[in-house]
Amino acid sequence: MKQDENSVALVGGGAACVATFVALVKRRAAKTIYVIAPGEIGPGLVFGNSDDDLICNTSAEIMSVMADAPQDFLLYLRQNGRYVSPEAFVPRSWVGAYLTDRFRDYVAIACRRGIKVVHLPYHFHSARVIDACGHELKLARDDASYSLVVTDVIFCTGLGAPRLPDLLKPHIDHPRLICSPYPEADMLQRIPKHSRVLVVGSKLSAVDAAVLLGRQDCKVSMVSPSGALPAVRSRSIRNARFRLDRSWLESIFRRWTPGGDASYPKGLRHAYLKYFVHHMSTLAGPLWRKQFSGAHTCDQRLRDQISLAELGQSQWQDVLVDLVETINAIHAKTRGC
Ligand SMILES: Cc1cc2nc3c(=O)[nH]c(=O)nc-3n(C[C@H](O)[C@H](O)[C@H](O)COP(=O)(O)OP(=O)(O)OC[C@H]3O[C@@H](n4cnc5c(N)ncnc54)[C@H](O)[C@@H]3O)c2cc1C
Repeated sequence: MKQDENSVALVGGGAACVATFVALVKRRAAKTIYVIAPGEIGPGLVFGNSDDDLICNTSAEIMSVMADAPQDFLLYLRQNGRYVSPEAFVPRSWVGAYLTDRFRDYVAIACRRGIKVVHLPYHFHSARVIDACGHELKLARDDASYSLVVTDVIFCTGLGAPRLPDLLKPHIDHPRLICSPYPEADMLQRIPKHSRVLVVGSKLSAVDAAVLLGRQDCKVSMVSPSGALPAVRSRSIRNARFRLDRSWLESIFRRWTPGGDASYPKGLRHAYLKYFVHHMSTLAGPLWRKQFSGAHTCDQRLRDQISLAELGQSQWQDVLVDLVETINAIHAKTRGC
C-alpha cells in the first residue's frame, strides 16, 4: 500500500460531500481526492427524489454549495430556464440535479488542475491512524473489500436513512411495513389509494410520507414521542436588517471546551437559544412569544403556525439564517478551519 502525498478521502456522497469537494478543488488542497460513496455522488437520500411535491424547507437563496458564491444555486436554476424568487422553496429534485452537475463540473476542473479524482463505490468500514500524516481506511461492499492509505479523511455521511424503532424490528419483513418513504415511488406503489396508514415519526421524512399519501386520499395518522412537527416557515433567507451581536455569540462559544466525544453540548445549544430569544425581544415587530403557538394539540399548533406565517408574523425566520451562518463562521474561525 502506497500513501499518496497530500491525498484526501471524502466519505459520503451527498450535499456536504459535494460542497467539500468543490472547496478542496478551488483551494487546490489535495493532489488526489478519493470519494467513498456506495452510489451516485450528489443528491444523497434527501435530494434524490423525483416527486415535485417533495420540496425544500430552505429557500433557493441559501442552497449554494460554494461558500464564495452564495447565489450559485439561483444562477444555476436561471441558466436552466427556471426563474424563481430567492425565497422560493423549490422541488428537492432540482437541488439533486444541481449537486450532480456541480460535482461533474468540479471533477473536470480538478482534472485540468492536475488533481486526481477517484470514486470508490464502497461503504466506509473503519479507520486506523498509522502516523502523524497517514490513515488507513477499510472499505467494504457485498462482493469486495478495499483498503486505502490517505493523509486526511473528511466524513460527510449525514444522518442516514429513517431508523426503525426497536419495537418494529422483528416485523421488518412484513409486507405492510415500509421502512422508509424513499424512493417515494416505491412507497406509493406499495400503498393502495384510500388506505389507512400509520406514519411513525413526525419530522421531515414523516411529513414527506404524509404529503404524498394524503395526495392519494389515504387516511394518515402520525405518531411520535415528541408530537413535534417541523416549524412552519414561509422563507429562509439572509437578512442583514437584523444585526447580530457577534462578540456575544463568540463569548458563548468560548465557554465550550470540546469534550472527548466531541458532541455538541446541550448547554451550548441552550445558550444560543437564550441569545436568540434576547435578540428577538430587541427587534421592532411582533413580540417573540406571539410568534409561536402555545396550543396543546399539534394539529391546532400547526394551524396557528400556518396562519402566523401567512400573516407575516414569523419574524424569527428572518433571523435564523444569519444566526446559523454567524455561529458557523465563529466555529470555523475558532477551530482554524
Ligand atoms: C426529508 C428531509 C428533507 C430535508 N430537506 C432539506 C432542505 O430542504 N434543505 C436543507 O438544507 N436540508 C434539508 N434536509 C437536511 C439534509 O439532510 C441536509 O441538508 C443534506 O442532505 C445533508 O447532506 P449530507 O451530505 O450531510 O448528508 P446526506 O445527503 O444524507 O448524504 C450522506 C451520504 O453519505 C453516504 N454514506 C453514509 N454512510 C456511509 C458510509 N459508511 N460509507 C460511505 N458513504 C456513506 C450516504 O450514502 C449518502 O450519500 C432534509 C432532511 C430530510 C431528512
